[in-house]
Amino acid sequence: MNENEAMSEQSDAMPADAARQVRQHLDSLRAAGVMWLPSQPLAVESATVAETTVQSSPIPAIGEPVSSNGVEKRRSELLVLAERIASCQRCTELVVSRSRTVFGVGPLDPELCFVGEAPGATEDQRGEPFVGEAGQLLDRIIAACGMKREEVYICNICKCRPPGNRVPTTQEAGNCREYLERQLELVRPRFLCALGACAAQNLLGTTEGIGKLRGRFHDFKGIPVLCTYHPAYLLPGRSPQKKREVWDDMKRLLERMGRPIPGR
Ligand code: SF4
Repeated sequence: MNENEAMSEQSDAMPADAARQVRQHLDSLRAAGVMWLPSQPLAVESATVAETTVQSSPIPAIGEPVSSNGVEKRRSELLVLAERIASCQRCTELVVSRSRTVFGVGPLDPELCFVGEAPGATEDQRGEPFVGEAGQLLDRIIAACGMKREEVYICNICKCRPPGNRVPTTQEAGNCREYLERQLELVRPRFLCALGACAAQNLLGTTEGIGKLRGRFHDFKGIPVLCTYHPAYLLPGRSPQKKREVWDDMKRLLERMGRPIPGR
């Protein structure tokens, strides 16, 4: 059964709010890469990767070892996690303001993972992080570093768009923390780059300002973390003069990663 058939079959008989939740759920699954749903539950043992996403298996507890080193197994577990997040109702305000959850994009075992704050309007519509104006600037930063967007993993602290693009509350970031930790356990980046104060503070569990956190390395569960300004902060009308400091941060990161530094 495809998603449209699933939606029309269910929406005939359900109240508007429930229909909205089903629509959000299906949109989030599509954005996370799930393109079809089985018409009836399948036995776990015979489920394929996509089918596995409809099982309601619990998220393993934080700190529980990832069940396998295998990339396919972890990819499958990541889809299960995306499916769980797609139906998450923990933050009452965000459940209403989001069009869908925005999980994350990129390969497993990347050299680098960028962690931002939360989806904005464009990301909320497309179901992918960093695809609006700030995302285009991030793409240019990645290219300036000699990498491609497809090589890196990109996600956010919060998987749902806050109303009016406000900063997620401490409570909302805390609600989503379990998801982020599991996502990073499964993706296994070698390095993390936290974009902006919200991402840096929530990732590192600190209240220090981004001006003090940037420019040096921190640690998240054994993964080196570099913090820098959020690309949205660098856009015209805000603080484009801070691009120089971001580039200094990126050069520091490239050096630690053992990659060539363009222009040097
Ligand atoms: S932000 Fe995270 S915890 Fe809150 S509703 Fe969305 S997915 Fe759930």
